[in-house]
Amino acid sequence: MIEVKNLVKRYGTNTALKGISFKVERGHIYGFLGPNGAGKSTTMNIITGCLAATEGEVIINGHDIFEESVEAKRSIGYLPEQPPVYPDMTPAEYLTFVAEAKGIEQKDVYEKVNEVMEMTGLVPMQKRLIKNLSKGYRQRVGIAQAILGDPEVIILDEPTVGLDPKQIIEIRQLITSLGQKHTVILSSHILSEISAVCDYIIIISRGRVVASDTLANIRAKLSEDKKLELLVRGDENKIRMTLNEIEGIESYETALDEAENAVRVILQCVKHADIREALFFAFSEMHYPVLSMTDVSATLEDVFLNLTEEASTAEEEEEEAPAPVYKLPEEEREEDEVEERTEDDASEDVSDDDDDDYTPMFGGKE
Ligand code: ADP
Ligand code: MG
Repeated sequence: MIEVKNLVKRYGTNTALKGISFKVERGHIYGFLGPNGAGKSTTMNIITGCLAATEGEVIINGHDIFEESVEAKRSIGYLPEQPPVYPDMTPAEYLTFVAEAKGIEQKDVYEKVNEVMEMTGLVPMQKRLIKNLSKGYRQRVGIAQAILGDPEVIILDEPTVGLDPKQIIEIRQLITSLGQKHTVILSSHILSEISAVCDYIIIISRGRVVASDTLANIRAKLSEDKKLELLVRGDENKIRMTLNEIEGIESYETALDEAENAVRVILQCVKHADIREALFFAFSEMHYPVLSMTDVSATLEDVFLNLTEEASTAEEEEEEAPAPVYKLPEEEREEDEVEERTEDDASEDVSDDDDDDYTPMFGGKE
């Protein structure tokens, strides 16, 4: 229902999106995951027609967001990173204003506004000025304006940033319940945020999609590769000989742990193999006590970090790094990385070049 094709966005000399493509099917909750500065907000602003792309296409329910923006925007509700709420209005007033801007018929406005206030738990706060609401409630007002008019797709840019843990849980529940009736796209730089509510993950890094799959598939792939860490008290050579005999070990490393007076083994299992019992019995037969056995398999977090790091390393080699004159000695490399990060951060703050690209938030009927 949403097709994003090869989006490129340049802000002056900075290319924020370098060819983003993905598809969104009806009825799922999509997580748009990536570190700060990856290009999430830029992509969402383009998909929702708030920002023009330099290149590429966005088709929503058959309508091009640039060419038939009114039709395309009708199926989208958007909560931008900075919620467009008016601090001097009450939620009820503000939502009534939004309902009218979205072209909801006058006779339905009252009912629709009440409906979204109920869905987002705003009823008790409806008469308080928005500026006097907590951040959590203000965020609900932002979500309420996005779901007004019952759009098929709801797009939320970092909806839980700045909320306390209790508010985060509440907003998550709200998003999950929205997912029952709507297609939801939600961005975050925090993996746990996405894995808690989304069934599909699109990971972006430095303006590119580096992974896109269902959460279930990513987890299944992870569980294929088990990695174990053991602490065994005994002779290192004999331990290695025993490990060589056990089936299901792909590779292993051993090292003496002097503090524990034991040998630390890290081993990678063959796909799908569970060799914990075999290890236990092999060493107990030798009277070598296994002091500990821990599953240190890659987690979702590792996958995320790996993917986003790989993309940035590739990137540096590809275009950003000037031809190195000399090779840095080992110790100085870290410093070099720190320097680059600062440059990046600074470039993130430059955000005033392209203001003229913005079009008003609400598509509505004209
Ligand atoms: P994210 O939402 O993933 O944190 P953004 O889409 O906000 O990332 O930003 C992607 C990149 O584009 C960053 O490097 C940021 O500095 C740059 N950028 C974003 N908006 C602007 C702007 N209006 N002008 C110039 N650069 C911008
Ligand atoms: Mg952002």
